[in-house]
Amino acid sequence: MRRLRRAQQRDARESKKFRRGVVTAGTAAVITLGAGFALNRSIAANVPDKHQLPVKQDADADFLADREEFAIGYKPFVADQNRNGTLDGLELSIRCAAIIAQLPWEDDAAPGATCKWHAPQFGLETCEICGQTVNMGPATIVNPHLGVEVKCPLIAMHYMEHGSFNYAGDIQRGRIDVPALMRALELRFPGEPDEHQLPVSANDLDGDLLTDNEELAAAHNLYDADQDKDLTPDGIELATQCAQVIEALPVHEPNEPGVGELYKASFMQRASNCAKYAASPSTWATGRS
Ligand SMILES: [Zn+2]
Repeated sequence: MRRLRRAQQRDARESKKFRRGVVTAGTAAVITLGAGFALNRSIAANVPDKHQLPVKQDADADFLADREEFAIGYKPFVADQNRNGTLDGLELSIRCAAIIAQLPWEDDAAPGATCKWHAPQFGLETCEICGQTVNMGPATIVNPHLGVEVKCPLIAMHYMEHGSFNYAGDIQRGRIDVPALMRALELRFPGEPDEHQLPVSANDLDGDLLTDNEELAAAHNLYDADQDKDLTPDGIELATQCAQVIEALPVHEPNEPGVGELYKASFMQRASNCAKYAASPSTWATGRS
């Protein structure tokens, strides 16, 4: 689980750098509600990639089949739900590939951690598009915690890096089980509730977990719960982005001389029911201890 989280965090590092720049340059109010920044750049100017094989029964032609969109809570008639210029299927595929690339192989994984399993065989498989070769042996993504295992041969990983859940090698061809893969990688489905997202007690007209006063202060729309149309309510998105920015901040001692940059500091405090002093800097950003 911890390794999987790390892999997902590494995936978000590019956008963290971007957002940190925004914060140091101005106030919190200018944090934009944008997602997929790194992904957007990874498919330069929508240049067609021949690895992106056509998908059957895909009403909005976003490279996710209608039944997959239903299964993962996407909209079958909207091709670019977060309006970042990248079709949903391509974006999701590249995101999954980046996370899988960071997963440990089974032999290196901590007990119970999500990992990749591969049984090398004598034989190479060739990509029909670019001619790259990979080992033909079977491979899976394994999430022991949830008991999910998804077939994912190396040729499929190659295609996913190019934005395609379909794969076509000279030995194996098929399509990744997209809903199962999202479950294995613990990618949250749009709209799936998280119990940490506590209700807002003050007025919140659009129910996006930002109070009306906060929306006014940040120049947001009081009546639009999802301004960038990426299916994540604005308050949840902003909180997540702030957590990422805070996590990336350098740590300095309080009142440390000569520090001119934005930083975070932790203070030692005695817990009333504990005989020891404790400080957990990581709790600043993520609530993890
Ligand atoms: Zn290829």
